[in-house]
Amino acid sequence: MEKSGICLLGSTGSIGQNTLQVIQQHPEKFKVVALSAFDSVDSLFAQCCLFKPSFAVLVQEKAAKDLRQRCAEQNLNIKVLSGVEGLCEIVALAEVCQVVAAIVGSAGLLPTLSAVKAGKRVLLANKEALVMAGDLLLEAARQSGAVLLPVDSEHNALFQCMPKDYMTGTRPEGVAGLILTASGGPFLHASDEILAQVTPEMACQHPNWKMGKKITVDCATLMNKGLEVIEACKLFQLTPAEIEVVIHPQSIVHSLVEYIDGSQLAQLGSHDMRIPISYCLSWPVRMTSGAERLSLTQARQLTFFPPDNEKFKCLPLAYEALTLGKGAPTVVNASNEVAVHAFLNGQMQFSQIPAIIEKVLQKYFDLAASTLEEILWADKLARESAMHFMTSVNYG
Ligand code: NAD
Ligand code: MG
Repeated sequence: MEKSGICLLGSTGSIGQNTLQVIQQHPEKFKVVALSAFDSVDSLFAQCCLFKPSFAVLVQEKAAKDLRQRCAEQNLNIKVLSGVEGLCEIVALAEVCQVVAAIVGSAGLLPTLSAVKAGKRVLLANKEALVMAGDLLLEAARQSGAVLLPVDSEHNALFQCMPKDYMTGTRPEGVAGLILTASGGPFLHASDEILAQVTPEMACQHPNWKMGKKITVDCATLMNKGLEVIEACKLFQLTPAEIEVVIHPQSIVHSLVEYIDGSQLAQLGSHDMRIPISYCLSWPVRMTSGAERLSLTQARQLTFFPPDNEKFKCLPLAYEALTLGKGAPTVVNASNEVAVHAFLNGQMQFSQIPAIIEKVLQKYFDLAASTLEEILWADKLARESAMHFMTSVNYG
């Protein structure tokens, strides 16, 4: 059988490394064609030595130059590119069959869109791209024939529970709604006093999952779940009212599909991203992932309760943006990225994150976002506005 050529965007990150761990277990099935990262020369060079891809991209030119030299010294025959152009080039290579979109944040949009336009099978971890430009990505997929497979654990669970032969970007038959589970993050039971004193170190300790910093903070504010509600709406073509969020601190039931006859189908498993990643890589058949098997008798208790929308305001803000439509999800996503970045750099308090997003959304609730240019413009305006409000919060 011919090996499936893989292009891995964001290979040095948490999803990227998990993907390579899965690929390593199945050398007869996959060939790593291209790897990419932002500027981490050391990590990408180590991956290049191990996987010997034909292409590697570092977005920063200086870092790319460094990598080029190191590859030459090791006699590695790897073409090293740079910039977003480099990313857009590797996703479209003829020998690439599957593109794993695992860049964090809105930076993933352009390369993901290029992969979709090139008609590739796209394994989507980069939820922000779908939040910003869901309609655009789905329309591009319809035109090119690209298949979108969700890596995000909840959406992967939902996809696994969908009717036979279901494809993303269409409304599933017989489905009444979706139930997205959320761990609730590290501050699920924290008082307002504790929330007012959260440091980046505290916010980066997720109880169940080990992930990149941005998504870990998003989990702590529940914005991650908000982004996931938008992601689910786009992928499965349902309305906001058909998507419910339930807090499930054990992260064992990864989400549920509710059917019109009253049946609810769930996917369960240990919290290990190698499960959804391997499901996507080998879809429609299954292969081993290396994840530990789930023991229900060890888990013992599975609990579920509604989210506290007063304490965690990011979740209702995401619902509001979804209902507003147009550029509102892009605006929420962009202002969240700016606020989380500032919080991680010690420039803003944790509890100010939703306040900034709310102000920016109030200002820009009606921006057009049907074309890529309009989406990028909405993203830019929201970022500038978030910076402005942050300055006035801190010094005003
Ligand atoms: P991470 O921070 O660990 O890794 C991000 C990767 O993207 C790195 O390889 C980095 O070099 C690259 N990158 C960062 N900025 C870039 C830029 N401007 N241009 C190009 N490349 C850039 O993040 P992660 O936790 O692996 O998450 C990646 C994506 O997957 C996010 O969108 C996240 O929401 C989603 N996701 C992650 C998990 C998880 O378990 N980590 C689960 C579900 C969804
Ligand atoms: Mg998730």
